[in-house]
Amino acid sequence: MGELQQERDRQSDPAAHGHAAPQAAEVGGELATRRLLAFGHPQPRQVARILLQFPDDRLAIIALLHRTLGNGFATEVLSILPELEAGADAGKAPDPLVTMAETPISSAPPQGVAPVAAPDQDVADLRAWKPTQTGGDRGYAAWLLRARQLGFLSATGRSLPELGDFVAGRMIHSPNEQPLTQEDEDAGRKAGGHKLDKVHRTPTGYDVDLKEAPILATIVTILSARIGEWATNGGGKRRPLLRLGDFVRGDVGFGAKSPHNEGAAIDLDFVGQKNSAQDVIDILRVLPPGRLEVFSDNNDALHLDRRPGGFGLGLPSKGDYLSPRHAINPDRPWRNAEQDRVEREAGDDHGKTLHANGLVLYKGTATASATWDASRSRWEWSKWVLTGASVEPYLASPALHAAIADYRARSAAARKP
Ligand SMILES: [Zn+2]
Repeated sequence: MGELQQERDRQSDPAAHGHAAPQAAEVGGELATRRLLAFGHPQPRQVARILLQFPDDRLAIIALLHRTLGNGFATEVLSILPELEAGADAGKAPDPLVTMAETPISSAPPQGVAPVAAPDQDVADLRAWKPTQTGGDRGYAAWLLRARQLGFLSATGRSLPELGDFVAGRMIHSPNEQPLTQEDEDAGRKAGGHKLDKVHRTPTGYDVDLKEAPILATIVTILSARIGEWATNGGGKRRPLLRLGDFVRGDVGFGAKSPHNEGAAIDLDFVGQKNSAQDVIDILRVLPPGRLEVFSDNNDALHLDRRPGGFGLGLPSKGDYLSPRHAINPDRPWRNAEQDRVEREAGDDHGKTLHANGLVLYKGTATASATWDASRSRWEWSKWVLTGASVEPYLASPALHAAIADYRARSAAARKP
C-alpha cells in the first residue's frame, strides 16, 4: 500500500499529464506504467496494452507491478496479454452507426459509415475544441458525436438521437418504453409537479423542450480527460470507450422528479459489460470537484447527475458496487441474503427478535425484524422500513470506498481559497 503511494509521489502532478501528450518514443514502458499508476489503481487491460506496446520493457514493468500492486495483479495482466497479442482486442470496433434517417443532424457523419481509427490530427482537433453550450454544430452534443465517430464513445438507441436533437435545436424526443394510460400520466404529472412542464406527450413518447443539458458538459470533461490519459499512455489502437445509456427522459410514468427530465442526468452502461467498481473509480478520478452524493439506483447501469454544488452517483446492488448480499432481490420478493444469514445464525434459539439490513432498489437502506411463529414453525418478518441512512457503508469494493474518499478530499482542497 505504502509503495503505491510512493510510486505516486515520485510522479509529477497527474493533472498535468492530460495537457501534454509526449511522443511515444520518449516514453518507455516503465515510465508509461508509472504514469498510469499515478492516476490510481489501473485496469489490468490498461497495463497489458503497455506491455504489448513496449515488449523490451516487459521485465521492468512486471517488476514494478509486483512492487506496487502485487503478484495477483501482475498475473492478471499477463493472462490478458495473449488475447491482446492475437489482435482480438485491438481490432474491436465500436458499435456501428445507427441509421439516423428520421433524425438527421447537420454535423452527422455519413450514414452507414462505421467509425474508423482516426488519424492523430482528428484527435488533436477534438481535444482543442472547447464547447461552451449544449446545442449547435460546435456545442457539447456535437463534440460527443464527434468523439463517437473517433471511437471514444458509444451511445444507445435512446441517447444517440437525443444528442442529434440538441445539435439541431429541436425538441428532445424521448420514446416510451411502455405505453402509458392517461391515468398514469396524470398521476405522474401531479407527483412531478412543475418539473414536467417542459414534457409534451406525442404518439410515440414525449417531446422535452430543453435548450441546455448540464450533464453533457460534465461528460465532455470526463471524456476529454480519458482521451488525455490515453494519449499520454501512447495512444494505442484500442481507445477508452465511454458508454452512454439513458439520457433525457419524459419520465412522466415514473412520476418522479427525475434529473433526466432536465438533461441533468445520464446513465453509463457499465453494468453487464465489465461490471466492476473500477469503472466508477476511473470516472471519479477525472470528475470535476464537487459535493458527491451516493445512492442506490437501478440495477442496469450507473446513474450520474448534476445537482447543486456537485454530483449524484446512483449505484446498482449488483457486481461489486453495492453489496449484493443486502439487495432485496426481485426474484425473491422482499427477501435478501442477510435474512437467510441471521436465521441461520439463530439456529434453534427462537426466543429472540432477529434484525436484518437491506437495500431496496431505487430507494436505499432499509431494516426489518422477525420473531418466531411457533404455529408455522418459521420466522415471521416485518415489512422493510426505509431508514434514509447512507448506502455508503454497503459499498462492496474497498477500492471504490477509497476512491470516493479521495474524490471528496480533492474536492475539499479545491474549495479552499
Ligand atoms: Zn439515471
